[in-house]
Amino acid sequence: MERVIVVGGGLAGVRSVEALRAKGYEGELTLVSAEPHPPYDRPPLSKAVLMGDQEETTVDADWTALRCRLLLGERAGGLRLGEEGGTLATTAGDLPFDGLVIATGATPITLPGDGPQHVLRTIDDARRLRSQLREGARIAIVGAGWIGAEVATAAAAKGCAVTVVEAADAPLAGPLGAELGAHTVPWYAEAGVELRTGAKVASVEPGALVLADGDRIAADAIVVGIGVRPDLGWLAGSGLEVDGGVVTDETLRTGHPRVVAVGDCASWWSRRYRRRMLVEHWDTALNAPDVAAATLLGRPAVYDPVPYFWSEQFGRMVQYAGHHPIAERLVYRGDPTERRWAACWFTGDRLEAILTVDRPRDLVQARRLIAEGARLDAAAVADPDTPLRKA
Ligand code: FAD
Repeated sequence: MERVIVVGGGLAGVRSVEALRAKGYEGELTLVSAEPHPPYDRPPLSKAVLMGDQEETTVDADWTALRCRLLLGERAGGLRLGEEGGTLATTAGDLPFDGLVIATGATPITLPGDGPQHVLRTIDDARRLRSQLREGARIAIVGAGWIGAEVATAAAAKGCAVTVVEAADAPLAGPLGAELGAHTVPWYAEAGVELRTGAKVASVEPGALVLADGDRIAADAIVVGIGVRPDLGWLAGSGLEVDGGVVTDETLRTGHPRVVAVGDCASWWSRRYRRRMLVEHWDTALNAPDVAAATLLGRPAVYDPVPYFWSEQFGRMVQYAGHHPIAERLVYRGDPTERRWAACWFTGDRLEAILTVDRPRDLVQARRLIAEGARLDAAAVADPDTPLRKA
């Protein structure tokens, strides 16, 4: 292999470049990214950057030592594949390759309407939104998911009058289920944030959110945090399968032997869960590239993680490991009305997933136990003073 292109300059892109070089790839390496900035980290955007505590989040990478050509502000628009590789059509011209890493991430979903909508995906989005978070400003946030909760946290801390509108019956109902999400409702009130659940937004108009029941919420700035979707139109006609994300096997290889996909845009086959997974979180972007690089270089590797992510909201560290949709029952560890607690999902006596609130030690122990497929005594797990361990 002599010419590898990585498309997408997020964390998964830069980690792919690093992993290829670390594994001894000596050929040409090019990173093409639509954003004008060198790769940067996104989690701080909704936290320290929004709060004004951090200005830059650029990933610390030595591009000269990595011998990687950076094509920033250039977008891939099409892909033609042949037997030994192919050609990537970009705004910088056609680029031939014999190995390709697709790491184009995802873009926020927006709402209908003529009013200005803030989304939060890029550092430019974060800076634009930060300039709106002035004391007394009315900030309406659509979606009480991970991003919505973190933006509400920052906006409330800045003294804004914050309203969060959520279509489901509880925050985080999509990723965690309404029962668990309901335990976060008091966090909003405690921060002085108005939370309106079960409220559907019809459109974003200049200066107001219009709800499906006709109600209007006047706002100086409207933030839409209702999820993301990979922007993969550029793969049309390439022959690669797209189903929510770029479809790969457990080695992160697509249907073409010279093309792999990683990060928020990849829908990979999980050996552990025997299903396709698309995990739009930082840990996937960090670790999947190691496997993708090995696969591209013809080395045996399988991506089979216990998914992990975290969120910092309303002064709490919320962490999750595992995959709870496969579990049979939920066991609380501690009282969810208190400050520190956890929720553990079981199938029989096997721990499948955990959500921790300000219990980082539990998270670390549980993550290892879940990876091992360990069996636990659920009664002991329910006691927050007993360490998590195998039965
Ligand atoms: P991205 O970071 O989206 O990078 C993809 C890059 O590809 C972008 O630069 C894009 O411009 C570029 N691109 C797209 N299309 C093209 C094209 N056609 N041609 C060329 N380039 C293209 N996860 C957690 O676990 N915990 C957190 O607390 C957390 N906080 C977050 C806060 C925010 C505000 C955001 C946005 C995300 C957060 N995440 C968090 C999620 C995590 O940051 C993402 O999962 C991760 O950044 C995904 O990395 P990626 O490289 O796959 O995609």
